[in-house]
Amino acid sequence: MRWQGRRESTNVEDRRGVSGGQVAVGGGIIGVIALVLNFLLGGDVSQLPQQLPNQNTPVSAEEQAADDQRAKFVKVVLAETEDVWNTLFQQEGKNYVEPTLTLFSGATQSACGSASAATGPFYCPGDQKVYIDLSFYQDLQNRFAAPGDFAMAYVIAHEVGHHVQNLLGISDKVHQMRQQLSEGDYNKYSVMLELQADFLAGVWAHHTQKMKNILEEGDIEEALNAANAIGDDRLQKESQGYVVPESFTHGTSQQRMYWFKKGYQTGDMNQGDTFNSPDLQ
Ligand SMILES: [Zn+2]
Repeated sequence: MRWQGRRESTNVEDRRGVSGGQVAVGGGIIGVIALVLNFLLGGDVSQLPQQLPNQNTPVSAEEQAADDQRAKFVKVVLAETEDVWNTLFQQEGKNYVEPTLTLFSGATQSACGSASAATGPFYCPGDQKVYIDLSFYQDLQNRFAAPGDFAMAYVIAHEVGHHVQNLLGISDKVHQMRQQLSEGDYNKYSVMLELQADFLAGVWAHHTQKMKNILEEGDIEEALNAANAIGDDRLQKESQGYVVPESFTHGTSQQRMYWFKKGYQTGDMNQGDTFNSPDLQ
C-alpha cells in the first residue's frame, strides 16, 4: 500500500507504554489461547474478562522505532477508512460518526472489559473504539504467516466494518436475538456478522483504490491471505487438531476470503447481506 506521507487520522488515542492497571492472575496458556480464538478480529466482546495481568515489558529503541512506524501506518489506514465511509454514508443521506482507534501495549481497559495483546484487535460498540496492540502486526507475520502491510490494513478495515454495522444498527439486532437463540444458532448469526465485516473491509478496499489509487501489486492477495489464515477452521485445526463447525464465530477461511473479495469486486454495500445468503443458512 502506498501509504507514506498520507494523512494520518487524529481520532487516535495512544495508550502505548501506559500501564494496564490492575494485576490479576491470568488463565494460563489455555486461557490465552481461548481468548485469541474468541476475540481475534472482533469476537464477542461481551465475554471480555474484567481483569488481565499487566504484560508491559521494556522495549529497545529499535523496537520503539518499528512500533512508531506501525502506529503511523495504522493512523493512515484509519484516515483512509474515514474518507471512504464518510463518502459512502453521505451518498445514502446518513451521517458517519468516526470511530476512535486506541493503541495500547500489554493491557488496557475498554467499555467492554479488559484487553491484552492476546485478545487480538477488536471493536467495542460501548465506546465506539477499535483496540489494537501493534504487536499483532508481528503475529500476523509470524504466527499466521500473513505478512504485508495490507494484511494489517484488512484487519483494521474489518474492525471499522464492525463500527459501520454498529452505526447501521445491525450488530444491535443480532445481540438482541441472543436471548432467544440456542448457542449453535447464535453462532450462526455471529458468523454472518463477522463475514459482513469482511465484506465491508472489501468495500473499503474497493473505494479507497478508486478514490486514491493507493493499492500496490499483491495487496489484495495479502488481505486474502490474512482472511485465509485467520478463518475459524484453520485456527481450530491448529489449536485442537480438529474442526467444530457449530462453534465457529467468524466463518471458515473460504467464507472469509469469499466475502472480502465480493466487497472488493462490487464496492456495493447492498451486496453484503450475509444474513440472507442461502449458503450461510
Ligand atoms: Zn470481527
